[in-house]
Amino acid sequence: MKQDRNKKEIKEKIFQLRKKLSEYNYQYYTLDTSEISDYNFDKKLRELFLLEKEHPEFYDPSSPTLRIGVEGEKKYTNSSIYSHKYKMYSLQNTYSKKELITWKKRIHQSISSSLSFVCELKYDGVSINLIYKNGFLTHAVTRGNGKKGEEVIENVRTIQSIPLKLIGEKHPSYLEIRGEIFLPIKKFLEINAKRTISGKKPYANPRNTASGTLKIKNSKEVYKRTLSCIVYSVMGKNLPFDTQYQALKTLRNWGFEISENFLLCSKKTKDIFHFLDYWTQWKKTLPYQIDGIVIKVNEYQNQFLLGYTNKYPRWAIAYKFRPKKLSETRLLNLKFQVGRTGIITPVAEVMPKKISGTIVKRVTLYNDHFIQKMGIHYGDALLLEKGGDIIPKVAKINLKKRLINASPIYFLKKCPSCKSHLRKKNELFYCPNNFCPSQNMKKIQHFVSERAMNIKGIGKEMIKKLYQKGFLYNISDLYQLKKEKLLQIDGVKEKLADFLIKNIEKSKDNLYQRVLYALGIPHVGEDISKKLTEKFSNVNSLMQAEEPQLTSISGIGKKISESIKTFFSIKENKKIVEILMKHGLNFSDFYKKNPVKNQYSPIEGKSFLFTGRLSSMTRNKAKKLVELLGGRVFHTVNKKIHFLVVGKNFGSKLEKCMKKNHIKILTEDIFMKFLEQEKKEK
Ligand code: AMP
Ligand code: ZN
Repeated sequence: MKQDRNKKEIKEKIFQLRKKLSEYNYQYYTLDTSEISDYNFDKKLRELFLLEKEHPEFYDPSSPTLRIGVEGEKKYTNSSIYSHKYKMYSLQNTYSKKELITWKKRIHQSISSSLSFVCELKYDGVSINLIYKNGFLTHAVTRGNGKKGEEVIENVRTIQSIPLKLIGEKHPSYLEIRGEIFLPIKKFLEINAKRTISGKKPYANPRNTASGTLKIKNSKEVYKRTLSCIVYSVMGKNLPFDTQYQALKTLRNWGFEISENFLLCSKKTKDIFHFLDYWTQWKKTLPYQIDGIVIKVNEYQNQFLLGYTNKYPRWAIAYKFRPKKLSETRLLNLKFQVGRTGIITPVAEVMPKKISGTIVKRVTLYNDHFIQKMGIHYGDALLLEKGGDIIPKVAKINLKKRLINASPIYFLKKCPSCKSHLRKKNELFYCPNNFCPSQNMKKIQHFVSERAMNIKGIGKEMIKKLYQKGFLYNISDLYQLKKEKLLQIDGVKEKLADFLIKNIEKSKDNLYQRVLYALGIPHVGEDISKKLTEKFSNVNSLMQAEEPQLTSISGIGKKISESIKTFFSIKENKKIVEILMKHGLNFSDFYKKNPVKNQYSPIEGKSFLFTGRLSSMTRNKAKKLVELLGGRVFHTVNKKIHFLVVGKNFGSKLEKCMKKNHIKILTEDIFMKFLEQEKKEK
C-alpha cells in the first residue's frame, strides 16, 4: 500500500517537474523571458533527471531532460566512443625550476608583445570535456587518446558542480569546457572506511576511484559518490573573452566551479616561484589532491603564436611535485603501547630496513584514525617515507602485495596491560585505570629519566623486574627500596645494589622544578614546571591553586590548568606526593633561592623533624608554620635535618638524632621562641 502511494507521489512529482520545466523552456526560448533563475532551473532539471533514472517506467521521449542536447541524436549507452572536435592535449612536465626558467625564456624569445602568465593548481583527477550546445550540456567525454574519448554524460549529469544549463544568456552556440573530475579526499576516505568494514579492498587513491566511478553503469550509485568537478579552460568560436584569466572568471559566472587559487602573474619569475613554493608547502590543506601547478600564457593571441606540438601546447607547462622517495618493508607484527597517561599508541613492527643511514624496525601508526585512513591490513607491504624529520612514517600501502585473505587492523577494545575497557577522547583511545601496570611502569620510567630525577641504573628492564617482584608499584616505592630487596632481583649483586641505592638517595637533591616535572602531570613539561615553580614556591600552594591563578601564567591555558587540577584531585597522586615529601624530595624552592642565606635565621632555610606530641599546637599546624616561615619539615631522620623538636611521648627519633652530631635537639619551648623570633624578623 505504502509503496503504491509512494509511487503515485513520485509519478506526480515527475509530471509536475516536466510541466514546469517545459513552461520555463517555452518562456526562455520563445518569449525571451524567465521567471526562474538559471541556478534553480538547473536544480529542477537535475531532480527530474534523477527521478527518471530511478523510475524508467515513467519514460517519456518528450521530457525536458531528453529534449535538451541529445535531441535528434542517438540514445547513449553508458559508454560509447565520441570524437573530440578540438583535440585534448597533454601538458609538458617538469620537476625543476631551472627547466621552468628555460621554458619561460623560450617564450620571451618568441613573443614581443605584452605577456603575462596565469598560475593554476593541477588537479589530480580525470580530465573531462563538457560540450554545451546553446547553453545546454549535451556531451561529457573523457580524454581518451586525445582525439577520441568515452561518452560519460549519464554519470556526469549527477555531478552537482557541473551545470546542465549555463547561467546567463547569449552563450556561443558551441562550447567545450575542459575540467577535471575528482573525488574529494574526505569522500574517498569515507568510501574506503565503508569498504574496509564490509571486508572489501580499499581503493588505492582518489584519482583511480573517480575514474572508476565515472564508468559505473548505475548513475544512482555515481550520484551517491558525490564527485566534484573543477573547470579550467574553454574552447570554441566567438568567445566573449581573450585571456585565460578572463576565461576563468567567466566560467564562474556561467555556473561552474573554478578554483579560487589561481594567480595572474607579470613576467617576473619571482611571482611564479612564489606560487609554486606556497602550494608545494600547503597542498595538504586542500580538500582535493593536486599533483602540481600549471603555468599558462595568459593571452589567447600569444597562445596562438606559440601553438602546439603533437602532444602539448607550447604555451603551458606543468610543474609537478616531486614524489618523496619511499622504501618498502612489510608489517610483521602490531603492538599496542600504553603510555604513561594511558593513551594507547599502535606501533608497527616491520621487516628491518635501512633508510637514510639508520635501520628502521618500528614505525608508529599514531592512532585509530590513521590506521583506518590508510586501510592497513595485517602483513601489508608498507611504503615508508623518511623526510626531513628523522621519524619514519607510513606513506602508502603497496596494495598489489596485499596477502590473500589479509584482515584489516582493528583497534583494541581492552587495555593490553590491565584489560580495562578503553575509552575514547579526542580521537584517542586510552586506558582509564589508575592502577594499570603499563601506565605505572611508564610513569616510573619518566620519573627516573635523565631530564627528570636522573636516577642512573634504573631503566625500563630494572623497573619491570622490580614491578614483577612487587617491590615497585609507583614512584614513591623507589625511596623504600632496601638493599635486601634489590639483591633478590636477577643479576643484581652487592655492587650494583649499592650503586642503585646511592643514586636514589642522590636524587633527593634535585630541585623542586625537576621533581615537579618528574611527577609526570600530563602536559606539564620542563618549561611549564619551571614556570609553575616560579609562581608557586611550594607544592602545597600549587595543589590549592585555582584556574585563574594558573592561567595567569604565560603558556598555561585551560587545558594545562585542568590537567594540573585533575592530577592533584586524584587521591593516589596526593598520597604519592605526601610520601615523597616525607622522604625529603624538594617540593619548594627555597633551597634554590637561598642556599646559604639566612644562616642566622632560626627557621628560614632550616629543616625540622618532630617527635612526640606538642602541647601548644598540633604537629600539622607546626609544620605549616615552619613552611610558612621558609623552613622545611621532614618525617624521617636524614642528613639534611637541622633540628629535632621533642614533644610529649617522643619516639625513637630522639635516640637516632642524638647519635647525629649535625642535628640539634629542641624542646617545644625553644621551638616556640624560634617561631616568635622569626615572625618578628619578617
Ligand atoms: P598529464 O595528465 O600529466 O599529461 O597532465 C595533463 C592533464 O592535467 C590535463 O589533461 C588535465 O586533465 C590535467 N589538469 C589538471 N589541472 C589542470 C589545469 N589547471 N590546467 C590544465 N590541465 C590541468
Ligand atoms: Zn591499562
